[in-house]
Amino acid sequence: MNNTKSLEAWQKSQQFIPGGVNSPVRNFRAVGGNPLFIQSGNGSKIVDIDGNEYIDYVASWGPLILGHAHPRVVDAINGTTANGTSFGAPTTLETELAELIVNAVPSIELVRMVNSGTEATMSAIRAARGYTGRDKVIKIAGCYHGHVDALLAKAGSGVATFGLPDCEGVPTDFTSHTLVVPFNDADAVRRTIEANDSQVACLIIEPIAGNMGVIPPHDGYLAELREITSEHGILLIFDEVITGFRVAYGGAQSRYDAIPDMTCLGKIIGGGMPVGAYGGKKDIMQSVAPIGDVYQAGTLSGNPLAMSAGIAALKTLAEPGVYEQLEGRAQALAEGLRDATDRHGIDACHNRVGSMLMFYFTNNAVTDYETAQTSDINRFGTYFSGLLERGVYIAPSQFEAGFVSLSHSQSDIERTVRAADEVLSRI
Ligand SMILES: *Cc1c(COP(=O)(O)O)cnc(C)c1O
Repeated sequence: MNNTKSLEAWQKSQQFIPGGVNSPVRNFRAVGGNPLFIQSGNGSKIVDIDGNEYIDYVASWGPLILGHAHPRVVDAINGTTANGTSFGAPTTLETELAELIVNAVPSIELVRMVNSGTEATMSAIRAARGYTGRDKVIKIAGCYHGHVDALLAKAGSGVATFGLPDCEGVPTDFTSHTLVVPFNDADAVRRTIEANDSQVACLIIEPIAGNMGVIPPHDGYLAELREITSEHGILLIFDEVITGFRVAYGGAQSRYDAIPDMTCLGKIIGGGMPVGAYGGKKDIMQSVAPIGDVYQAGTLSGNPLAMSAGIAALKTLAEPGVYEQLEGRAQALAEGLRDATDRHGIDACHNRVGSMLMFYFTNNAVTDYETAQTSDINRFGTYFSGLLERGVYIAPSQFEAGFVSLSHSQSDIERTVRAADEVLSRI
């Protein structure tokens, strides 16, 4: 694999951009080598600037559930652009996307658009604190909610990948209201709430953890969280930035039938454009300005290009058979990978929910942040590089999810499994 041009591009980008990348996970530091600079994407494939083609399971870290350059999304963006790109005044596109979201996501009665998942979680927490008049926030170890100061405690992926115990630049005061408990441990939540009686505003969780690999919730875990938080007047916030419209049209909450008070969205709802959203019950969302006193704003929020791309994506996802196809392809991939690790006698824990999946190089069941850390990340690095050489692009970290899109064909899946089998035979 020749990647001279990517290497040159990276050397140049490092002169102008910290680390040469605009988000740390794009760097290949965790797996070795240089990041690839991408020229184009089409369907399930991306092509780098050296002309190498890859089957892509990163999908821009989740948004591209339809695949790259989907014609309906591209047409929607082009059509909107011709009439101007931003007004800072309402457009009906915002209402159209909001209506699609409200009709799809069980917990959302009102929704506010923002520009990223980070903004969504930051704003949701502010609203929860304003609404309850309480300060403390419970978060789950290994769950990532964007780079919000108060949530950069035990925050998974980027932070886990680089082994940063904490984030510099975040005053201790800013995380002093953040209480961290393990994933899949409802008793820990109960104990934490009892020890902080009437002080907890909200519990925020990724209902399926997607930033420490992929970790499904145990049976009954989300329902138990719903029950405990309700008992104590604590708002339950599902961060569905990855899982929203990914594991079901209505997100993880409809898949597991556990309905939170508030929900954060991002990624898929922008169809590949920068976007985020937070929503919930009417009385909670009415605590946000201009109706209520919780201030939150955005110059480019509800941007017409992002709205039209999101509308096109959601309308495509609403068609019959979409989630069955995603499930089927992802299942075939997961089974193929499991057969391969079995065949070569490699310790592996395979986790999957719908079209998000990851396997860990460990003989432990991976159910939380601690067990995820038992994975052999050197083996992962070798696996990653082997796949890349064979034209398969997965996230350059053990602690990320792999995403199957509607554009992945049966033959893409078969080629991927063959490549994995070859790589695993030499590990
Ligand atoms: C990606 C992600 C975020 C942050 O979204 P950005 O758009 O990167 O700010 C928040 N929560 C979860 C669960 C995510 O996966």
